[in-house]
Amino acid sequence: MPTAAQMSLNTATVKEQCNLQQAIEGCARHGIGGISPWRDKLQECGADEASKMIKDHGLEVTGLCRGGWFTAEGSLTNAVLDDNKQAVDEAVTIGANCLVMVVGGVLDGTTDLQSSHQMVEEGLAKTLEYARQFNLPIAIEPLHPMYAADRACVNSMRHALDICDRLGDGIGVALDVYHVWWDVELEAQIKRAGKDRLLAFHVCDWHKNTNDLLLDRGMMGDGVINIPLIRSWVEREGYDGLTEVEIFSAEKWWKEDADLVMRTMVERGLSAT
Ligand code: ZN
Repeated sequence: MPTAAQMSLNTATVKEQCNLQQAIEGCARHGIGGISPWRDKLQECGADEASKMIKDHGLEVTGLCRGGWFTAEGSLTNAVLDDNKQAVDEAVTIGANCLVMVVGGVLDGTTDLQSSHQMVEEGLAKTLEYARQFNLPIAIEPLHPMYAADRACVNSMRHALDICDRLGDGIGVALDVYHVWWDVELEAQIKRAGKDRLLAFHVCDWHKNTNDLLLDRGMMGDGVINIPLIRSWVEREGYDGLTEVEIFSAEKWWKEDADLVMRTMVERGLSAT
């Protein structure tokens, strides 16, 4: 059960209530050990200023969300590749442990899943080449298969790790329990990943009767995911990083006071994570 100091706040969890500064100050108030900003929050104040604020409060940066979206323009355009390079630069500036990749869905107007996979892998390879210069790890986040069409066509730990095997050093996975809890291979694939490729651990919960496939994530303990079990598998491989809380919740947690959200997150860290 992670203590507050062993947890990290993904800024998406309080995205409606807090700008980056408010999220950072909230973490400090609640003794939360780390933060994982989204790029839109970073760009509000700029990466340099963000870096300074984060350092001033002694927070670890468990990741930067996100790079990827390689299939967005139908080919690997300079705009797509440059945006990923910029994401690498930002991640380096704020001292992030990794750059989280949401890789992009099926190419617009096509049924060509295979070419989409290929483009994603090429985009990852090119971004990795750039990130290696700064020793910044790239973390593929496999998304639940329901997002294969529109957000990410890498949908299992197996697929993500196959890509890692082909691309070599400097790339691993961000394991988000929301996306992979259902997978019968999860334990085996965590073992396969090992410490070196487990770059981030994201938690929230899956409501039994979820009413929105994007914006109805639950607080840990409010759903069907056995988070302590999955965490035990990750820790068995030697993962000793923070546990990052990432909750998209339009009707519940985004409407609550940010301090209540953070207080609840810390309590559920101890009781349900
Ligand atoms: Zn995540």
